[in-house]
Amino acid sequence: MTSNLASYAIHPDQTKGRRHKEPAAQARTEFQRDRDRIVHSTGFRRLEYKTQVFVNHEGDLFRTRLTHSLEVAQIGRSIARVLALNEDLTEAIALAHDLGHTPFGHAGQDALHECMHDHGGFEHNLQSLRVVDQLEEHYAEFDGLNLCYETREGILKHCSKENAQQLGELGARFLNGRRPSLEAQLANLADEIAYNNHDVDDGLRSGLITLEQLAEVELFERHAVIVRKAYPEINERRLVHEIVRRMINALVMDLLQTTQQRIADQKPHSIEDVRNCGELIAFSDSMRAESKALKKFLYDNLYRHYRVMRMSEKAKRIIRDLFDAFMQEPRLLPTQHQKKAHENLSRTVADYIAGMTDRYAMREHRRLFAVEEE
Ligand code: MG
Repeated sequence: MTSNLASYAIHPDQTKGRRHKEPAAQARTEFQRDRDRIVHSTGFRRLEYKTQVFVNHEGDLFRTRLTHSLEVAQIGRSIARVLALNEDLTEAIALAHDLGHTPFGHAGQDALHECMHDHGGFEHNLQSLRVVDQLEEHYAEFDGLNLCYETREGILKHCSKENAQQLGELGARFLNGRRPSLEAQLANLADEIAYNNHDVDDGLRSGLITLEQLAEVELFERHAVIVRKAYPEINERRLVHEIVRRMINALVMDLLQTTQQRIADQKPHSIEDVRNCGELIAFSDSMRAESKALKKFLYDNLYRHYRVMRMSEKAKRIIRDLFDAFMQEPRLLPTQHQKKAHENLSRTVADYIAGMTDRYAMREHRRLFAVEEE
């Protein structure tokens, strides 16, 4: 089952193991088992109703955290296969990477981080780890999903130095500058490829950005010219999809070539080598610059669009209101959270809010603040 993997890939029989000892998986590898546990988790189902950029009720066709995570997994798996990396591990990381996201996307996260300012802060990557390590309540023997070290390492993309110090071996790389597995590095860049491209698609679909504006983005315009020339009569939806799929392909091919070159140059032979090398999974300098330019375009024109900003500000108010209400009166928390609230009120409130879907948060806000509600 493992013979096709490169020597520098993570081999499933070499995992550093799970936090709680369990019998070995029988008919699947340990990373397939991790992937399966993630898919069956409550947090994973919640992703369907969490915002990527557009709040869930704004339209049926926009990406949600769930479809985003599936796209990241698809891109990650494709690349992993070519590079002879562990596809199952890449997929597991991709599917779990956003489990800790709050409702309402980055606006929700920023608001919760501010609320938690005096209580240790809130980081969504760290929260994803909390979900799989502690917050899922499914198994008789342990809290969380008890995933393998390598899956957990991949989920924890970023981490403040302060928090890294509390995390033992998992946090050490943020302090000593070592790298995570190639599968983790890959899932990270697959995330970037996915959101840059689907945000272009969703942005155009919403009408908040236009093809004319995107003409200033080199990566986009290059492919737009090719598609328009080949298909002068093409309608706009097909045009957009043809451009987006070409952009994804260009990014993936560039990443493959750059990575293969780096692997050939640095010759890692084992995961230990990978941990000590510089970044091996990477775009070329020119593609990195183009990807950055696209990201900046989206930031300036989509994420900062006044209609997105209005929703973001509303979202922040909802999060702040909920946080303040529960902090002032913990007895407003549902019964199952009361016990934990006695141990650590602010973290319990943050966990409860972070776990909410967009619509649940709005409903909870109405229940607490609308006088006509029950
Ligand atoms: Mg993501």
